Amino acid sequence: MKAVTWQGKRDVRVETVPDPVIQEPTDAVIRVTSTGLCGSDLHLYEVLTPFMTPGDILGHEPMGIVEEVGAGVIDLSVGDRVVVPFQIACGDCWMCLNSLPTQCETTQVTAEGMGAALFGYTRLYGAVPGGQAEYLRVPQAQYGPIKVPEGPPDDRFVYLSDVLPTAWQAVEYADIPEGGSVAVLGLGPIGDMACRVAQVRGAGRVFGVDLVGDRLRRARARGVETYDLRSFDSEKELVAAIRDETDGRGPDAVIDAVGTEAHGSATARLIQNASALLPRKISGPSPNGSASTGSPPSTRPSSWCAAAARSR
Ligand SMILES: [Zn+2]
Ligand SMILES: [Zn+2]
Repeated sequence: MKAVTWQGKRDVRVETVPDPVIQEPTDAVIRVTSTGLCGSDLHLYEVLTPFMTPGDILGHEPMGIVEEVGAGVIDLSVGDRVVVPFQIACGDCWMCLNSLPTQCETTQVTAEGMGAALFGYTRLYGAVPGGQAEYLRVPQAQYGPIKVPEGPPDDRFVYLSDVLPTAWQAVEYADIPEGGSVAVLGLGPIGDMACRVAQVRGAGRVFGVDLVGDRLRRARARGVETYDLRSFDSEKELVAAIRDETDGRGPDAVIDAVGTEAHGSATARLIQNASALLPRKISGPSPNGSASTGSPPSTRPSSWCAAAARSR
């Protein structure tokens, strides 16, 4: 099959690799019909280079059709259409039963001190081949895959794998009071969805900040009060403008959906370049530190594409 493989820093290529096969009774193999390319993949492109091995297959946001199931997978059948979440979890251990599947004790990568294994995400998370490929082996398929309705391919479902849950979780953590306000920083896929989720869940006012015209227009069309970063001379001015709209107090909550590798983040670039220069041992512990986007998956039940906080 063909797959997107990591070959080195800033070197990603489509290569022909062996087709995946069932290895455990709890495995399934799916034929991938659509798959996302995540902001988190940018970490692998540069920051997490020391933890990658040439030939690693990338991707953690796939959906597809079940081609084969192991004997232990009873709820899935060949031909089912499924979305596969980022984390690999058993559904049955103490962590899973306590709603912390990213800490699944069955798949935890204890040798690296990490949480549950993840698709396509370095040896820190189990070096599991990812979903930017024609076929994907899905471990723990008795629990992970989510069946979606039959019918023509509909790319909306692929957002269930990582993007929509991340945005949902950010809004959950932000804990916006009914009718209250939230400022969403960054209106890429996660920020845009966080705005929509906040509206659906009862936020009274949603402020969105970005510096890309198309994103601002898209959010504005859905009732988000948008702020174009380019039209302010300083961050202070932007903060003042939002404060003015909220009786001088600021919004009830803020969601940071920008990410440290964002356009224009000179500090992040400096940290990344510096960490890539460090010896392996020293640069090793850094993926959950300042060079990552949002909070590490080892402490949070959702993925690490966004962070949220009550502002007061
Ligand atoms: Zn992702
Ligand atoms: Zn588990």
